[in-house]
Amino acid sequence: GGDFNQKIDYVFKVVLIGDSAVGKSQLLARFSRNQFSLDSKATIGVEFQTKTLVIDNKTVKAQIWDTAGQERLDFYLLLPEIYNYCVFSHQSTVSCSFHAVWYAETDQFIGSPIRYRAVTSAYYRGAVGAMLVYDMTKRQSFDNMARWLEELRGHADKNIVVMLIGNKCDLGSLRAVPTEDAQEFAQRENLFFMETSALESTNVETAFLTILTEIYRIIS
Ligand code: GDP
Ligand code: MG
Repeated sequence: GGDFNQKIDYVFKVVLIGDSAVGKSQLLARFSRNQFSLDSKATIGVEFQTKTLVIDNKTVKAQIWDTAGQERLDFYLLLPEIYNYCVFSHQSTVSCSFHAVWYAETDQFIGSPIRYRAVTSAYYRGAVGAMLVYDMTKRQSFDNMARWLEELRGHADKNIVVMLIGNKCDLGSLRAVPTEDAQEFAQRENLFFMETSALESTNVETAFLTILTEIYRIIS
C-alpha cells in the first residue's frame, strides 16, 4: 500500500523489452501487485504500472512500461522467418497493430516503418532504466537479446541502466540457457544480470530494487 500524502522525490521510467511470452507482463504484475497468472493474455496497447518505494530516505515512484503487444511487430521486423507466430487468422490478409499487414500468398510482410518508429521512440523516451527479458527455457529468446539491445541503444538515452533478466527459473529442468552464457553476455555488454521467476516470486523484487537503486545512484 502507498501513502498518498507522501511527496515524490523522483519518478523513474523503466521499460520492459524482449520477445513475446518471456514473462514481461507477469514480472510487472508480480512486482507491482504481487500477482501472477498462468494464462496471461497478450496485452494490447502500451501500458505502465507504478510502484512507490523508498530508497535512501527518498520517495521514488517507479513507472514500469510494458511492451504490451508491439514486441510482436518487432518480432516480424526482426525475424521475418517466424512471423507465422503472430498470425491469428487463415485469411490471406491479416492486419496487425500499428498498420502492419502480412500477405500469406506472397509470404510478405509490409509494415509501416514511420508509424513503427514513432511508437518505438515514444516507448523509450525518458526511460532511465530497461529490463531485457528472455525466457531461460527458450534459447531463441536469449539469442535475440543482442537485437533488442541494439534497438534499445538506438532509441534510449546513452546513460540508461540496463538489466538482463533470465525469467522462468522455476522451470529448471527445461533450461536452455546456461547461467554462464548470460553472465558472459551481460559482462561484455555492461549489463546487470539476474535470473528470476515471476511464478515463484524469485528475485523479482530484488531485480527491480537493484535497477532502481542503481538509477538513483547515478541520478542523485
Ligand atoms: P510477455 O508476452 O513477455 O508479457 O509474457 P507474459 O507475462 O504474458 O507470460 C507468458 C507466459 O509465460 C504466460 O503463460 C505466463 O503465465 C508464463 N510465465 C511468465 N512468467 C513465468 C515464470 O516465471 N515461470 C513460468 N513457469 N511461467 C511464466
Ligand atoms: Mg505482455
